[in-house]
Amino acid sequence: MSAVHPPRGTAEALLADGTTVELRPLGPDDHRAVLDLHAEGMSEESRRLRFFGVSRNAPAQAADRLCAPRAGLLALGAWAGEDLVGEADCELVDDPPQTAELALAVADRWHHRGVATLLLEHLVHRARADGVRFFEADTLFGNRAVHQVFADLGLPVEHRYAQGEVRIRIPLEESDERYRSAVDERGRRADIASLAALLRPASVAVVGASRRPGSVGRTVLGKIRRGGFSGAVWAVNPHARDIDGEPAYSSVRTLPAVPDLAVLAVPAGAVPGVAEECGAAGVRALVVLTSGLDAQEARGLMRACRRHSMRLVGPNSLGMAQTDPAVRLDAEFGGTFPLPGSAGVAVQSGGVGIALLQRLAWLGIGVSSFVSLGDKYDVSGNDLLQWWEADGRTDLALLHLESFGSPRAFARTARRVTRTIPVLTVDAGRSTAGRRGAASHTAAAATPTVTREALFRQAGITATRSIDELVEAAALLHAQPLPAPRGAVAVVSNAGGIGVLAADACAEFGLELPELPAELGKLLPSGASVRNPVDTTAAVGASELALFLRALESEEAIDAILVCLVPTALCATPGQDPARALVEGPARRRVPIAAVLLDQQVPVRYRTCADGGMLPAYSDSVAAARTLAHAVDRARRLKEPQPVPVDAPGCDRHTARTLVDGYLTAHPEGGWLDPLTTADLLEAYGLPLTTSVWARDEHTAVAAADGLRRLGHEGKVALKAYWPGQVHKSALGAVRTGLATAAEVRAAYREFAQRFGTQLAGAVVQPMALPGVELLAGVVQDQVFGPLVIFGMGGTATDVLADRAARLAPLCERDLTTMVTELRGAPLLTGTGGAPPVDLAAVRSVLTRLSRLAEDFPELVETDLNPVIARPGGAVCVDARVRLERRPTFDPYLRRLRRPSAAEGQ
Ligand code: ADP
Ligand code: MG
Repeated sequence: MSAVHPPRGTAEALLADGTTVELRPLGPDDHRAVLDLHAEGMSEESRRLRFFGVSRNAPAQAADRLCAPRAGLLALGAWAGEDLVGEADCELVDDPPQTAELALAVADRWHHRGVATLLLEHLVHRARADGVRFFEADTLFGNRAVHQVFADLGLPVEHRYAQGEVRIRIPLEESDERYRSAVDERGRRADIASLAALLRPASVAVVGASRRPGSVGRTVLGKIRRGGFSGAVWAVNPHARDIDGEPAYSSVRTLPAVPDLAVLAVPAGAVPGVAEECGAAGVRALVVLTSGLDAQEARGLMRACRRHSMRLVGPNSLGMAQTDPAVRLDAEFGGTFPLPGSAGVAVQSGGVGIALLQRLAWLGIGVSSFVSLGDKYDVSGNDLLQWWEADGRTDLALLHLESFGSPRAFARTARRVTRTIPVLTVDAGRSTAGRRGAASHTAAAATPTVTREALFRQAGITATRSIDELVEAAALLHAQPLPAPRGAVAVVSNAGGIGVLAADACAEFGLELPELPAELGKLLPSGASVRNPVDTTAAVGASELALFLRALESEEAIDAILVCLVPTALCATPGQDPARALVEGPARRRVPIAAVLLDQQVPVRYRTCADGGMLPAYSDSVAAARTLAHAVDRARRLKEPQPVPVDAPGCDRHTARTLVDGYLTAHPEGGWLDPLTTADLLEAYGLPLTTSVWARDEHTAVAAADGLRRLGHEGKVALKAYWPGQVHKSALGAVRTGLATAAEVRAAYREFAQRFGTQLAGAVVQPMALPGVELLAGVVQDQVFGPLVIFGMGGTATDVLADRAARLAPLCERDLTTMVTELRGAPLLTGTGGAPPVDLAAVRSVLTRLSRLAEDFPELVETDLNPVIARPGGAVCVDARVRLERRPTFDPYLRRLRRPSAAEGQ
């Protein structure tokens, strides 16, 4: 097939059972392997189904056909180590056009492990990029397995039956969202399967367990042994016969059995060799504690992991812990083995991990599994979210990560997982250095912290600003019911001033304090006030307060209670301490309850209540109010319908791919696209750009203007000076609008020539657009969140107005609505002062298409449409800029393992 883009090279991906395979195009060197696959690898029956007969020559013919490079043929092999385990190929046919004939073969031994499906996904990806629009295949009627593979793929499949054969036709460009979800779901299952060896290993080896007390290896070995690990534990050390009285083995190869997991605490230089040895022996997962690997060592480690299908935690990890009583693995050197429980914890920095585990232990929140991800070459936050979602033990996920793994998978994974369990993170407030150099409005708009918080919220994640805030929020979410989404709080205190402070804090976090019925006052001492905040006065006794709380919790108007108590001298009298009302009542009520005890020394702790439940008590009302606000936020999100990404039909991925690859081949260092290529690219995705004609000189500009004038508003055109690398044009006097005559166009061009001199490469001529509201629509690629769509008030005053909204791609229905409504300028769009609303459907289509474009092309690091001029009858963009950068190829419809930048470049 045409080589319009650079070869895609190899990719590694997980099979359904978690095994890693490598996928790459077949070539002449693979002839033997292809022959073996079809001859020895397949039974006679498999061959009959594949070749529709039992010709003895079929395997040799297949090998000849697949291994000779030929225009129009795409043949992919899946390799497990050195073994070719399957093959999928397609070959273009002339009739019907853009159709390729598809064939598949998988070694019998590898059936039912998802080899065919994975190969097909990768073949679809490559074929689409080459402009193939349909796959067709003949299959035997009885070939159930292959029909199932096609049916499960997630693409529509058409069948035609004739004489025992079924002709199958698969349109490649339809139902993107359905296909994408099917791919995601397979990815999720494969991911979980691959993580079992890491998180529930049956046996463990510690490699580099030295005899020296206090060394990392020996410490971890000791902890695993003392922690009561349910499986076998072996020490590997070539220099010791025994460690702590137990035998030590000279290498992984000499162990009595193959461990599922190996923990590596060897010097950096030895890591690649040991990893390779582990892989060759059949180890399924590595935790690398070693830090300071150089680039070559990093590559060696990654290579060993991929080749031998091992998942990897680290390097520079503090280790991991699995508290499930059936496993009990304490393979970390951080602190004490966490209490078993239901919080999943993942951290990037070991130090934060220690602090977090310590706080959870103080509080009494148990941990289901803990992983210190370190440098995250392979296993990332995304992986763990998926594991916890499915492990049946975790009901709360706590993360401290600078990024979540593949930013492009992040939004989808997080949105899904957070529907089931609360996910809390410390927003490490990542530096924006990567974007500092960026020049467009869109990029500048994407950075502020406020936006980051909103993005976390959109992904369903509770973002906190410190470890303490994280733990405070976890305390409530872990032990108390969620409030109703309305978030109406009753504040109760035994000292008026304290209550007012708490009420202020609630209001500042957006919580509502409704009025309470006056009759409630009858339950309180005289002088009490039941306006919200409630002042019970210091005279309130424990039983009075208990009755009051019970009455309060059944108030319809209330969704949460915040009780602030300060000890007074009266509390010393028996029965007078109101704090007793809290613990003597139930912890779980109709509404969540948070206590603020001003004499408490730690920021948060649990009080055990009469029903055995836990009541979180804070030392400060701000912390309690903020925590309730986090809970309300989550409740609101859960009430919204499950967000479904909006589809953008008719995007021409092939043309866009050709343009992007063409530019990056000519400019490997990346840069801004010229105006006309920009227009072609955006138009391929159905984005409404105004007609633009390129003029190299004055004469062409005048001629073009003559042609375009009739299209323009009031018969006028705009002229824009262009030179490569230009950023904001109007500020430099490079835009002239409303030109009505040839003389005006000529004069404008001459002025450009004078002002910009030899720098001027030419000009763009456009018809003047009909007047409307000027909007900004753009996308940037964020290193944490992946593609972000930015929308706001645009035009030349964009930065002054700074009225913008940002959302994670892919956009869902709700995002499209709220992006418009949250702007201060929203009335300009929805209609104000008698002005009709603009064509919102056209605006939404622009956003949806941009979102799809950014998802499909990570190379588009900045895309800036400013302005999009929206009016009642439509929306048109008159200025677009696109900056491209070479990025690792990524196709959202493709499952493949991440290649960390530290270990890239093999
Ligand atoms: P830059 O953003 O680089 O300064 P633009 O091409 O966006 O340059 O032009 C600046 C402003 O000129 C736009 O915000 C818009 O108000 C106006 N403008 C530019 N081109 C047109 C056009 N074809 N029709 C109507 N107005 C235009
Ligand atoms: Mg502009």
